[in-house]
Amino acid sequence: MQINKHVHAIKIPFTITTPLGVIIDRFVYVYLIYGTNGICLIDSGVAAAEQAIFEYLWATDRKVSDISLIVQTHSHPDHIGASRTIKGETGCAVAVHPAEKAWIENVQLQARERPVPGFDTLVAGSLAVDRLLEDGEVFDLGCGLKLEVFHTPGHSRGSISLLLLGYQALFSGDAIPVPGELPVYEDVRASVASVRKLQAIKDVRFLLPSWDEPSRGDAVYPRMEEGLQYLQRIHDAVRTCTEKSAEPDPLETAKCVLKAISLPPELANPIVAGSIAAHLTLRNQKNIIRP
Ligand SMILES: [Zn+2]
Repeated sequence: MQINKHVHAIKIPFTITTPLGVIIDRFVYVYLIYGTNGICLIDSGVAAAEQAIFEYLWATDRKVSDISLIVQTHSHPDHIGASRTIKGETGCAVAVHPAEKAWIENVQLQARERPVPGFDTLVAGSLAVDRLLEDGEVFDLGCGLKLEVFHTPGHSRGSISLLLLGYQALFSGDAIPVPGELPVYEDVRASVASVRKLQAIKDVRFLLPSWDEPSRGDAVYPRMEEGLQYLQRIHDAVRTCTEKSAEPDPLETAKCVLKAISLPPELANPIVAGSIAAHLTLRNQKNIIRP
């Protein structure tokens, strides 16, 4: 799907099977920025997503070897899954925030420290990072295209969002929580600050997230606000679920919270419990999204 003159989006469907055998249908968006000298990929999707990406390139009269750079919004499996294969086929460079480097260069370390169900089926393998990106950096993709880096932690320590300058297309990775999806973040206070940071960018015309459909025009800023409201809704549920408990258990609280926000409690797992634990540290605070 073409978003604007230079940006294309590919939706990659995949499934996750939980330890209890529940199959969850998911998708992730991968974005391509077409320049005249090369193509920059924003994330690579899950393992084997290269097939859909390569077919898209051929269908739009481009070559696989045109891919010159993969920018990773962060290191989670559904964002780096095909990167090893694509790098192997094209020799492209890979860029990421320093805090995500270790989990890309050693995916088994990531699997141990953050055991996502089905990790090994989602990721083709480890790969070397060539370039580190810091907050505020602007880098040139050639042919007049420039990307500005915004460090947007919370979902993960080194999550970044990227703004294609001039076109005002914002690639937000998983930085903006999606209402109705499982709560997945390490630091809810940082997540709020990151969404606020993105809200402060002027004239964003295209919002291009990984977990959610792309939006444009008048829909962009309300989408960011909905992400903040969802964090508050989860926080309210955490407070209600733990009212009578002095030392609430994060996993048990997660089940109660999921039920309260109309998601199946059986989807509670250690990663969701980690998000809930982040709320528990702010349990005495009623409002977490307004200063
Ligand atoms: Zn993620």
